Amino acid sequence: MPEQHRQRRGLPPYRLSAARDQGALFKAVCYCGSGRARWYVPADLITLFGDIDCSSVGALMRCESCREPMRVAVQHPTAGERQAIRVRRLERVWTVRRAKWRVESA
Ligand SMILES: [Zn+2]
Repeated sequence: MPEQHRQRRGLPPYRLSAARDQGALFKAVCYCGSGRARWYVPADLITLFGDIDCSSVGALMRCESCREPMRVAVQHPTAGERQAIRVRRLERVWTVRRAKWRVESA
């Protein structure tokens, strides 16, 4: 589950569900400058992270090149702008099982 996020004082929460209902998109750019901006729909982010505050999404999105958190912004593109945007949709989510071993005296 997503970790708790700190909310900025004085601002009402702006959750992913609200962004989804308003037709917003998320634009993610990495500080490392690799690749172009990537666009995501809030509904997919809710599937991954739960209905968290939009300001917390950036810390959870990792660059596929450098693995660092990305700079993420909520955008409200017009219908015309949407025509030019190629959105990345969530295709599959899976869980990886890992094992950790300890040594004991027999
Ligand atoms: Zn990067």
